[in-house]
Amino acid sequence: MARKLAKSTVERFRKHLEDERTRLEGLVEEYERELQVARLTESSSDRSPDPGNAEASSLKLEYAKELSIEQNTLDLISKVDHALARIKTGHYGICENCGTAIPIERLDVLPYSTLCVECAAKFN
Ligand SMILES: [Zn+2]
Repeated sequence: MARKLAKSTVERFRKHLEDERTRLEGLVEEYERELQVARLTESSSDRSPDPGNAEASSLKLEYAKELSIEQNTLDLISKVDHALARIKTGHYGICENCGTAIPIERLDVLPYSTLCVECAAKFN
């Protein structure tokens, strides 16, 4: 059975994860605002006589980039939420797949990780 993290350590990570979640949510809001602007720009360029111009396509590229950045951020938020849920159930710091303790050095770098290094390598 894996050794559980000290309550104060879990508490430290919980705080860190919650701060991270707030930061990520702020980023998503920012992306949403930028995407709103991109959408407006895009629809007005559709009405222009030359929709295939270089400016329009570079805007489209930028729009796609923003979308994928936003998607990555949303993925990260769901990972953070998942880790917070593990804290609630008392499973934080335990690998979800094999049940061994996740080294604290790993949690320091990736506080939202719920897999040990070996299992993370297998799943990615
Ligand atoms: Zn594992």
